[in-house]
Amino acid sequence: MLYSPSSILTYKQCPRKFYYQYVERLPTKKSFALVRGSIVHSVIESFFKIDIEKVSHQNYELIFRTLVFDLFKQNWLKNIDQIQELVPQQDLQDFYYSETAQMLQNWYTSFIKKLQDKIISMSFKEAFKSLTPLTETRIIADEIKVQGIIDAILKTEKGIQLLDYKTSKKEEIDEEYKLQLAIYALLYKLKFNEMPYEVGIHFLKSKEKFMPVDDSLLDFAKLEINFVQEKTQTTEIKEYNKKPSPLCKWSNGECDFYKICRPFN
Ligand code: SF4
Repeated sequence: MLYSPSSILTYKQCPRKFYYQYVERLPTKKSFALVRGSIVHSVIESFFKIDIEKVSHQNYELIFRTLVFDLFKQNWLKNIDQIQELVPQQDLQDFYYSETAQMLQNWYTSFIKKLQDKIISMSFKEAFKSLTPLTETRIIADEIKVQGIIDAILKTEKGIQLLDYKTSKKEEIDEEYKLQLAIYALLYKLKFNEMPYEVGIHFLKSKEKFMPVDDSLLDFAKLEINFVQEKTQTTEIKEYNKKPSPLCKWSNGECDFYKICRPFN
């Protein structure tokens, strides 16, 4: 079995949830958060495929803004059946549409600011290319049996920067995100034999936050990966404890396995 940041975090959140999802392989439900995440990722990935040679320095802001929001509308419509199923209330759907547009507006504003800072010392096209990351890169590290998909890998003057895009409400790199980023840094180091300079999250509701990469961060990832892999060698359900928490059930949702798990009975 190849582990992923997501499966490792699932074990840390609740071993029984890991058992249902990755040992028994029970189906999980689609959520609006997942659909929205994939729309936003797809817009950003497609944005960087623009042929920059055909864009003029004179009107690039208009072209880029139009492109971002055209891509957003296309991707939203492509997923409209799922969105309607997951969010049947039209007013809530409209709210999510505007909220997602605002996230992309935040991303666009931050990108334009970086581009303008670069244009001071290089040409517009060089500046765009220097800010174009490798997107959605899958890295498999067979030696530790872990794979992950890194949203954006950017070469900067200071070194390699790894970035993950998040549409969640959180605005800080908590322990869960720290572990996810540490695993990405470790995967990158194993694959390319180069330590990234920093890892970070672009919280699309607010802004980017970064943390430096050093040996202690990579050791933290190795320790947690080993811990989860050791604990998950068995297929005995009794070895996977339930860890009841507010993530079992909340105001408008519940864990995918809530009904079979019955954590509070
Ligand atoms: S309902 Fe709660 S305790 Fe049960 S698997 Fe889900 S998160 Fe774990």
